[in-house]
Amino acid sequence: MFRLFNKKNKLVKLRRRGESTKYGVAAANVKELLSKGCSILKVPLKGSRVCLYEDGTEVGDDYFRRLPDNVELVLLTEGQCWDGFASDISLLLGSTNRHYDLLIKSAKSLLTDEQSQKKRKILSDLLQNLEDNSESEKREEDSDWFQGIDPRFKTKSDYMKYNCESRVRGYLKEVDGYTPNIQSPRVRTEYKKVVTNMLEKLKVTKYNGCYFDRRQESDCMCSREGWFSCQGAFDQDSCSSLHSINPYGNRESRILFSTWNLDHVIEKKRTIIPTLVDALGHRSHGEINWEYFYRLLFTRENLKLVHIVCHKKTVHDLACDSGKIYKKVKKRK
Ligand SMILES: [Zn+2]
Ligand SMILES: [Zn+2]
Repeated sequence: MFRLFNKKNKLVKLRRRGESTKYGVAAANVKELLSKGCSILKVPLKGSRVCLYEDGTEVGDDYFRRLPDNVELVLLTEGQCWDGFASDISLLLGSTNRHYDLLIKSAKSLLTDEQSQKKRKILSDLLQNLEDNSESEKREEDSDWFQGIDPRFKTKSDYMKYNCESRVRGYLKEVDGYTPNIQSPRVRTEYKKVVTNMLEKLKVTKYNGCYFDRRQESDCMCSREGWFSCQGAFDQDSCSSLHSINPYGNRESRILFSTWNLDHVIEKKRTIIPTLVDALGHRSHGEINWEYFYRLLFTRENLKLVHIVCHKKTVHDLACDSGKIYKKVKKRK
C-alpha cells in the first residue's frame, strides 16, 4: 500500500537501528510513518519514534514536513536511542565475526573508490584491525602471517618466543661488548665472569622468550589471544594513549610490533653497566650481587614494553638500588 503515495506524501528511507537495509516508506505525517514503518520493519508501534540517521535528531511533524525527500531515518522502538551515524561505530565494534566479514567486504570496496588520503588511512587502519587471524596458530592455518619467516618456525608462538629471545640476546651482546672498555685487567676479568654467569642463567630461562609467547600462562606479557598493551613511558604508571597491538593477528601487525620497544626503566648503557663495572672495582665492599644486575638487564623487573611514541629517548636519571649491588653476606677471600 505504501507504494501508492499521493502528492502530500513524503518518501523517506527508513531502517532499524544498527541495520543497513533501508526501506522506502511514503507518509503524510509522523503518525502515518510510524504506523507504516513499524509494520514494514516488524517492530511494535507502542513507544516507537523516528530520528535522523545522520545526527539522531528526533523527527516531529513540523520537522517532518521540512525534510527533503529520500532523507534517511532510523526507526527506534521503546527504550532505544540513536546518536547519529557515529552510533554505528559502537554497534560495529560489538558485532560478531559474521558481521566483520561483511564489514571487511564493504570497507575494501570503499577503499577502492576512495580518493581522500585521510579516508583511505581510516579505512585501511580499520581493515588492518578487522582482518584478525589471531585464533590461528599453525603455519598452514595462516600462511600469509608466516611470509618471510624461516620454515623452522611452525607456530606463531614459536616465532614470537624467538622474537623476544632475540631482543634479550641483543642486550647480552651489548653487555658483553662493553668488556674492552674496561681499563683494569682485574675488573675486566671479574666482569667477564659476571657475563658468563648471566649467559648461563639466560640459557636456563631460555632468554625469557616466554614474555612474548601467548601459550605461557604466567610470565607472558600478552593476553591469551596475543594482545599486548603499552605499559607507558618509563616515568609513567600506564599508557594514556592506550596503545595496544596483536602481532599474532596479521602479518602487518607482526611487522609493526618490531617498532615496540622492550625498554629498560633503569637504563642499560647509561646506568646499569657502568654501575656494575664500578661496583666490581670496589671489591672491598663485598661480593657482587650479579643476579640483581641480571634482573635489571634481562627481566620484567626492569623492562617495560612500550609503543614507539611512549619510548622516550631522554635521560631516565634513575640509579640502581645501592642496597642490592652487593650480596648481603660478605665473604672474605
Ligand atoms: Zn603507549
Ligand atoms: Zn630506551
